[in-house]
Amino acid sequence: MSYVTAIVLAAGRGERLKSKVPKLLAKIGSKPVIIHTLEALSRNPSIKDIILVANAKNLREMTAWVKRYHIRKISSVVEGGARRQDSLGSGLKAVDNRTDLVLIHDAARPFIDKNLIDSVINIAKKSGAAITGVPVKGTIKKACGKVVDKTIERKNLWEIQTPQVFKKDLILKAYKKFGKIDVTDDAMLVEKLGGKVNIVEGSYSNIKITTPEDLVLAEAIAKRIR
Ligand code: C5P
Repeated sequence: MSYVTAIVLAAGRGERLKSKVPKLLAKIGSKPVIIHTLEALSRNPSIKDIILVANAKNLREMTAWVKRYHIRKISSVVEGGARRQDSLGSGLKAVDNRTDLVLIHDAARPFIDKNLIDSVINIAKKSGAAITGVPVKGTIKKACGKVVDKTIERKNLWEIQTPQVFKKDLILKAYKKFGKIDVTDDAMLVEKLGGKVNIVEGSYSNIKITTPEDLVLAEAIAKRIR
């Protein structure tokens, strides 16, 4: 059986939420966003340990919440960096030699179900790299300023989410080579390396809490899946 380590990226500043409470500590029901996320990962039997990447400001408070909710499997809490991939770098440094597969997940996505986690892990086990996403629902146009340049054919477009799972050696190699360039997800590093990345169709409920409306939506999703 493969040893899967989860890296949970929780070091963002969360400024787009425009709230006094840090985004990941905002509550959905009675629990902070980060606790929903960590509970979903820690109760998955395939995940053996969890590395939580926090920022200098929220590290203490997050560690306290993790203790309060008795989150199992946390092997370390490390400090992230300015960009998402800098935080990924901190997480990768904490991965130890038992790990076969690294699962990377945005702390701001609390609604990941077990089947989705299992599917992404299983495909990555076979192929080396698997990510989740949903077909794009809207019409996407490329613009120059505010003038339409062209409409992009929707048929093959996916909105990519996390979890993203990679063989450890592959993501380490990709990070070493391309970690300095700006990327918006982890798979981009593997793509740059020329690796094949498989998509697993996920769920529109797997939202990333970013703006105030997302918290309203999150309450509704939480009620439906509870
Ligand atoms: O900024 P974005 O919405 O893409 O962030 C996705 C996830 O990455 C969030 O959970 C956020 O906390 C995390 N992140 C991070 N370090 C950064 C920026 C974002 O861990 N420097």
